[in-house]
Formats: sequence, C-alpha cells, structure tokens
Amino acid sequence: MVGVLALQGDFAEHLTVLRSLKVETKEVRTPEDLASCSHLIIPGGESTVMGKLLTSSGIRDPLIQRANAGDLAIFGTCAGAILLAKEIEGKNAPEGLGLMDITVDRNAYGTQLHSFEAEIAIEGIGSVPVAFIRAPKITRVGNGVDILASYEGMPVLVRQGRCIASTCHPEVRGEAALHRYFLDMQ
Ligand code: GLN
Repeated sequence: MVGVLALQGDFAEHLTVLRSLKVETKEVRTPEDLASCSHLIIPGGESTVMGKLLTSSGIRDPLIQRANAGDLAIFGTCAGAILLAKEIEGKNAPEGLGLMDITVDRNAYGTQLHSFEAEIAIEGIGSVPVAFIRAPKITRVGNGVDILASYEGMPVLVRQGRCIASTCHPEVRGEAALHRYFLDMQ
C-alpha cells in the first residue's frame, strides 16, 4: 500500500499520479493508516504546520521508527523534503523528522512570485518537467546521500537509503516517472 500523508498540503495531486500508475493508495491521517503502508509520500505544503500535525496526529514516532528500521520507503516533495532533513536553516524552523543527512534553506528562491517551472535531468530517468513553488534549497549533502538531479548547480533530488527528497514538485504537472522510480526502489 502506498500512503500519502494527508494532514495538509497537496496530497490530492500525489494521489492522482499514483492512481494513474494503478497502485493501491491510502490517505494517511493516523498511525493506523501508516501501519498498512510500505511506502509514504510526504507532500508539499507548509512544513511548519505539517511538522506540528505530525506530532498531534501521533504519526511522528512510528514514522521515524519504521524509517530507521528500513521498513518504510519515504518520498518527500518540497515541504516534505524540508521535513526529511536533519538540519533546517534559519529561525522558525519546523520540527522535522531528521531522516536524511542534508541541510535545507526554506523559501530560498524567494516568495510565491518567484515560483517557476523547469525541466530537470534525473539520473536513470531522463528529463522531467517539474515546478518549484516557494522551494527550499539543499545547501549541504552528507556522505551517504546520492544526488540524482541538480538544477543551476544545486541538488534538487537526493536519495539516502530508502528516502528520497525533491525540492520541486513532480506531481503538479502530472508527471509519473519519479513516482514510478520511488515505487520500484529497493
Ligand atoms: N515554503 C514551504 C515551506 O517552507 C514549502 C513550499 C512547498 O511545499 N511548495 O514549508
């Protein structure tokens, strides 16, 4: 079962992409929902809000435990990528999950007005259209982290074990290649 964290943010777009791949999906709002999932997508949205809801929903602890045990594959997009990071720069940083050895700088491209679309070249996949919406930048990548795609010299898609993080949104343009990669990941 592929879960999409549905506490806040653009989870509906991820569900649409997953349905196009004909996989069984679940909107994850409780620890019980999470328990039935082998994969979890953490969508874009507002990472400070989602960080709080992860705690109040009771999902935070089982999520961290299962990820650390290698029992849950996770794909975080934008706010989801921020939450996966070990280090979040600046004041008012959300309470993250600390599952990937990366540092992120929130809203590093500017405001909503500075959001843009682009094509990124992903190793093993090819060119994929994505959107950067109040996107963060990944400013540090630890030793165990692979960079799968960069944009203007900065990593925008990274993988560590069974976690992947993208600073951009692949789902808003209906692109399924990255979701397929996530589902096929060992
Ligand atoms: N700027 C948002 C944050 O810091 C992320 C934006 C997004 O997910 N598109 O949480």
